[in-house]
Amino acid sequence: MFNKILIANRGEIACRVAATCKRLGIASVAVYSDADAYAKHVSACDEAVHIGGATAAESYLRVARIIEAARATGAQAVHPGYGFLSENEDFAHACEAAGIVFIGPPVEAIAAMGSKAAAKALMHAAAVPLVPGYHGDDQNPELLHREADAIGYPVLLKASAGGGGKGMRVVERSEDFVAALASCKREAASSFGNDRVLIEKYLTRPRHVEVQVFADRHGGAVYLFDRDCSVQRRHQKVLEEAPAPGLSAQIKREMGEAAVAAARAVNYVGAGTVEFIMTATGDFYFMEMNTRLQVEHPVTEMITGQDLVEWQLRVAAGQPLPLTQDQLKIDGHAIEARIYAEHPARGFLPSTGTLKHLRMPEGVEFAIDAGAGESRKAPVRIDSGVREGDTITPFYDPMIAKLIVHGATREDALARMSRALHACEVVGPHTNVEFLQRIVESEPFATGDLDTGLIERHHEALFAPVKKPFKEALALACAALLTREGGTAHGASPWDALSHWRLNSGFTQTLGWLAIENSGETGSPFTVAFARDGATQTLEHDGVREAFSWSSGAGLHEYRATIGDARATGRVFIDGDTFHVFCLGHALAFEWQNLLAHAADAEHGEGRLTAPMPGKVIAVLVEPGAVVEKGTPLIVMEAMKMEHTIGAPAAGTVSEVLYAVGDQVADGAQLLVLDVE
Ligand code: ADP
Ligand code: ADP
Ligand code: MG
Repeated sequence: MFNKILIANRGEIACRVAATCKRLGIASVAVYSDADAYAKHVSACDEAVHIGGATAAESYLRVARIIEAARATGAQAVHPGYGFLSENEDFAHACEAAGIVFIGPPVEAIAAMGSKAAAKALMHAAAVPLVPGYHGDDQNPELLHREADAIGYPVLLKASAGGGGKGMRVVERSEDFVAALASCKREAASSFGNDRVLIEKYLTRPRHVEVQVFADRHGGAVYLFDRDCSVQRRHQKVLEEAPAPGLSAQIKREMGEAAVAAARAVNYVGAGTVEFIMTATGDFYFMEMNTRLQVEHPVTEMITGQDLVEWQLRVAAGQPLPLTQDQLKIDGHAIEARIYAEHPARGFLPSTGTLKHLRMPEGVEFAIDAGAGESRKAPVRIDSGVREGDTITPFYDPMIAKLIVHGATREDALARMSRALHACEVVGPHTNVEFLQRIVESEPFATGDLDTGLIERHHEALFAPVKKPFKEALALACAALLTREGGTAHGASPWDALSHWRLNSGFTQTLGWLAIENSGETGSPFTVAFARDGATQTLEHDGVREAFSWSSGAGLHEYRATIGDARATGRVFIDGDTFHVFCLGHALAFEWQNLLAHAADAEHGEGRLTAPMPGKVIAVLVEPGAVVEKGTPLIVMEAMKMEHTIGAPAAGTVSEVLYAVGDQVADGAQLLVLDVE
C-alpha cells in the first residue's frame, strides 16, 4: 500500500479521499489555488502545495504543475477525484511517465471510453445493448440527416466528446435537423474542442440507471449493483439512490453483467460507472462509461458497506479486489441529495457568496475513524467541502454538500431524507434545499415513479409557493430583534433604537418588517406592534392582538416564542437588518425596517434612500416629481443574482433620481432624494 498520495482535486471529493487516507494511515497531499488557500480540503490533508491562480485552467488543470507537486512531496500516487483531470488521458499518461501511480484506469481504457462514439463501437462488439442510432466516423451532414430520418424522430444529437449534460440537442422533426446539427457542433467544438457528434433515438420517459463496477489487475471484475439517477435538471443529476427501485432481480443481474462485460471489453482497472438508459418496459441500453469515481458513489457505499476509495487505493497498489461478486450484498436503501448554491426559480443559475450561517443535520462527516461500513449505520452522512464562513466562488462547482441517508427500506430512507433536508440551514448564497424538499415529498418521487422528465413535468407543483409557519417565524424574528435592541430590559434606553411611544405605565413599539421570499424578492412592508403593560406582553399583526412571550434559548441564535396558542423554538441568524428564521423545518427571512432611522430622515425633510448592498440597478420605478405612498417600490437592485426592491420609507415626492438602469452602485450610496410630506 502507498505511504503518501497527492489528491489532485478540491472541495468535497478531496475531503472525502483524505478521510479514507487518514483511516488507512496514508499521508495525503492537497493542492490548492489562490482562491482555496484556506479551503477545507487543504486542512483535511497532511500537506498542501499551492499550484496557481483561481481559475481551473491556472491551477487544478495544470498537469505539469501537479506532477511536480507530487514529485516534490514524495507522493507515490495521485487520486484525481472527479471533474478536472480525472478523465484526462494526458494526465494519466504524464503520471505514468513520472513513475507516479494514477489512481484510475489505464490510459487506454480512458481513451476508449472518452469518445462516446468509439465506446459504442466497442460495446457493440462486446454485445452490450445500445440505443438505436448512428455513431460512425463519417460526419457528412447529409449522411447524418439520412441516418436521423432512418432512426425516426425524436432523435438526440450528442457531442461524442461531451459530458456534464452539455452538447446535446433533441430534434423533434426532420425539418429541424440541419439547424440543430449546426448548433450542436458549435457547442461541441467550443466546449470540448471536438465537433464529432453521434445520433441516438430519443427515448421518451426513460430512466437513468447506472452500475458501479470495479476491476483489478488480476482479472477480477465485479459490479456493486445499480443506482437510479433519473431525477435530473438540464440532464444533470439532482437526486440519486441505490438500489434502483422497482427492478426485477433478473434485470438487475443482466445489467450488472452487461456492465462487467463493458468494463472487460476495455481491460478496465479500478472504479467505473456504466450508465444505461432504460425504457418503461425495462429494456436498457448502454449510454456511456465514466472512468472515475462518481459524485453519487456514497449511496453505493451505504448499501454495500464498502469504502470505494479504499477499494480504489488497494487496486491501484496492485492488490486484488477486496470481495468477490458472491460476497457483495445489498443492505437497505440509500438516497443522496446534492445541495447546490443555486437559484432554482431562476433556471438553476449558480449563486455565490459567503456561507454566513451553515448548519447541517446531525450526522457524521464521512467516517474518518470508521469507514463507510460504520457511517452507513448513522442516519445521515454529510460529504461537504465547505464550512461556515467559506465562500462559494464563481470559479468552481457550486456544491455545498451532499446529504446521504440510509434506511432499511426506501420508505425509511425517504422519511430520513425529508427530515434531514428540513434541518439544513444556509444563509448566504441561494440554495436548492427547498426545491429538494419538494421533490422528495412529491408524489412521483415518493412512489418511485421515476424518469428523467420528472422535474419538467411537475414543474408547476415543484415551484408553487410553500405554506410556511409565518406567524411563528415572525414571532421569533421579533424576539430576536427585541433581544438585540435590548428589549428584555424594562423601560431602558434601548427603546431609542426602535420607534416607540409610551402609554401611561406601559409602552408600545412599532416594528417595521419586510418579508423576503425564497425567490429573493421582497414583499410589501408591514408593521407589528409590540406592547408591554406590566407583565403582559402582546404582539399585534394583521389587526389581531395576541399574548406574546419570548426568551432566548440555550444554543447560539436560539429563541423560543409563544404567540396566542402557537409556540415555536427556532434559530434566528441576523445578517445586518435581515433576520433569517429557521423554525418548524422551514426557512423564512424578514428585513427589519428601522422606522426611527427613517423617521429621523423625515424630520430633516428628506428621505435619503441608500443602497442596502453593492449591486446593479435593474429597474427605476419612479421619475422625479412622482408622488409616492409609504412603501411604494422605487428602485429594484440586483446583487449576487438576487433582486432587492427599495420602497419609500414614508409618503412624499421624489425630487431626484440619482442612478439609471444598468448602473453599478456601491453599498450605502444614495439612490434618490425623497421630499417627505
Ligand atoms: P456524475 O454524477 O456522473 O459523477 P457529474 O457530471 O454530475 O456526474 O459529476 C462530475 C462533475 O461534477 C464534474 O465534471 C464537475 O464539474 C462536478 N463536480 C462536482 N463537485 C466537484 C468537485 N468537488 N471537484 C470537481 N468537480 C466537481
Ligand atoms: P453526459 O456525458 O453529459 O453525462 P449522457 O450520455 O450520460 O451524457 O446523457 C446524459 C443524460 O441525458 C442522461 O442521464 C439522460 O437523462 C439523457 N439522455 C441521454 N441519452 C438519451 C436518449 N437516447 N434518450 C433520452 N434521454 C437521453
Ligand atoms: Mg452521463
